[in-house]
Amino acid sequence: MSREEIVKQLEFFRDIGITSLSTEEPSPLMAKPASSPETLSLIREDIGDCQRCKLAPTRINIVFGSGNINAELVFVGEAPGSDEDEQGLPFVGRAGELLTKIIDTSIEPGRLTRADVYICNILKCRPPNNRNPEPDEVQACNPFLKRQLAVIRPKVVCCLGKFAAQNLLQSEVTISKLRGRFFDVDGMRVIATFHPAYLLRSPDKKREVWEDMKMIGAELQRLRS
Ligand code: SF4
Repeated sequence: MSREEIVKQLEFFRDIGITSLSTEEPSPLMAKPASSPETLSLIREDIGDCQRCKLAPTRINIVFGSGNINAELVFVGEAPGSDEDEQGLPFVGRAGELLTKIIDTSIEPGRLTRADVYICNILKCRPPNNRNPEPDEVQACNPFLKRQLAVIRPKVVCCLGKFAAQNLLQSEVTISKLRGRFFDVDGMRVIATFHPAYLLRSPDKKREVWEDMKMIGAELQRLRS
C-alpha cells in the first residue's frame, strides 16, 4: 500500500469515528472474515484436478463420493474400479449393483435405501489395473476422506473389504476377524464387512454380510432412540 493509500485509509477510519488502532483488539472493520464452514463442495474444490499422488496421470475421473450428505450411514470402499473411473461415481459396476441390493434389502428393509446413505472410497482415483493402493497414495488421499466424514458426521461407517477396514481401524487383522463387531472411531461406530466384489467371487460369504447389515440396522435404531 502506498503512503497516499494509507493516509486515505486512516482518514476513512477517522470519518467513521475510529480514533485509535490497537494491535490487541482489532476493530471489526479490520478483523479477518470468519473462515467459511467446511462443506463437501469445499472439499471437492480443494481436491481440484488433484496431482498429489502418482495415480493422477492414469485416472480418467476423480471419484469423490455420492449420496445423501446428511447420511446416518456411510460406506467406505477401497478405490474406484474401471466403471467408477469412467463414470466418476462410486460403486456403479456389478459390485455396485450388488451393494445397492444389499443396502435396499437387508439393513432396514422398507425404510433405508441406497439414496439414504453416502458412499465413497479411501482413494479417489483408480490404481492402474486395480492393483492394491500403496501407502504414499493413501497418505496423500486420506485427509479428504477424513474431512468428508467430519462434514457428514454419520452415526455408522461400514468399511467394505480388507483394505478400507484396515485403514479406518488402523489394524493389520484380517477382514474375517474384523467383521461382525463395532469399533469406536472419532465418535462414529465403525463396522467392517466383505467387499461386494469379493462376494461376487465368493457367494458363500453372503450370510456373513447379511448378519453385518442386520447389526448395522440394529445399531442405527439404538443410536436414534
Ligand atoms: S488418489 Fe487422491 S491424492 Fe491421489 S491424485 Fe487422486 S485425489 Fe489426489
